[in-house]
Amino acid sequence: MYQNPSSIVAQSNQSILDLRSDTVTQPTDEMRAAMAAAEVGDDVYGEDPTINILEEKAASMLGKEAGLFLPSSTMSNLAAMMAHTQRGDEIILGRGYHIFKYEGGGSSVLGSAFPYPLDVAADGGLEPRDIDAAIKPDDSHFPPSKVLSLENTHSGQAISLERINACLDLADKHNLAKHLDGARFFNATTKLNIEPKQLAMRFDTINLCLSKGLGAPVGAVLVGDNQAIAKARRWRKMLGGGMRQAGILAAAGIYALDHHVARLIDDQKRAGILANELVVLDKFKVTYQDNQTNMLFIEPAQDEVEPLRQHLAQRGINIGGGKYIRLVMHLDIDDDGLTRINDGFKSYYS
Ligand SMILES: *Cc1c(COP(=O)(O)O)cnc(C)c1O
Repeated sequence: MYQNPSSIVAQSNQSILDLRSDTVTQPTDEMRAAMAAAEVGDDVYGEDPTINILEEKAASMLGKEAGLFLPSSTMSNLAAMMAHTQRGDEIILGRGYHIFKYEGGGSSVLGSAFPYPLDVAADGGLEPRDIDAAIKPDDSHFPPSKVLSLENTHSGQAISLERINACLDLADKHNLAKHLDGARFFNATTKLNIEPKQLAMRFDTINLCLSKGLGAPVGAVLVGDNQAIAKARRWRKMLGGGMRQAGILAAAGIYALDHHVARLIDDQKRAGILANELVVLDKFKVTYQDNQTNMLFIEPAQDEVEPLRQHLAQRGINIGGGKYIRLVMHLDIDDDGLTRINDGFKSYYS
């Protein structure tokens, strides 16, 4: 009888290893304690001390003037796009990037901006020559090119500073605003082994997600200069993201920035170990490129996917479906968990 793998996972009495995403993490006891103890106030009046600390902290880590706490990275990216554009302005970005593909077209629907997507190169970055060709001359036929929006990491790939800088040179040459969707910003700096400020330096705005690898339950911070963040703050209010005593949530973000950045290297190592083991198993294609961080992709034969999912589910391991299955390492997968995952795959194929 068919059973939904998620319900099998829920019945198993082992701890659950959920490989679908790094958004699935549970707040730790220490994080919950920090949330419970948070001092709060009305943030729409600017009076939540904990939110103010989080915004200043994120800004200073990235070498920027100001920060803005938002409920999600989707809203953070949207507020940034709206801060950088007016009706009919063009945003140049990657076809597979989150802002173009997975945010409901919000920057067009709500921001009235025009997205111009470029193919994403094998390393997850954009090709400078494509950007050069995409930037429009000042001619009434064309939407005015106003923003270059990059993503790092993309599909778990850390894009090198050289590649990023080559793209930003063109944005500078044509006076475009430069946005980085850094939902997994610290996964990128960890892999590239650079200071956060080095990656942040040339961008006008950067979105940081607190609820991915950093393990907070909710939230994102947008950082940039005072002017861009003041504009984004107005848009956040209009979008319904003005929250009141949300310092309880910001406290989780502060805890995450203090305690969960240095450990991202563990996720990266475990993803590498798992990729190696699965390559050795030699039962399906495994994608884990040199610049990959905390995720790998596998492609089991289509008729194996469902039985494999069920087999793993019985061992408390949850994987997604589809052709390319993403396996993501995070805070709730330790070395014992990794061993269980390895054993789960091995036992299915033996
Ligand atoms: C997850 C993600 C987002 C959106 O984050 P939410 O907080 O779920 O809205 C934006 N950009 C990238 C690159 C992401 O991975």
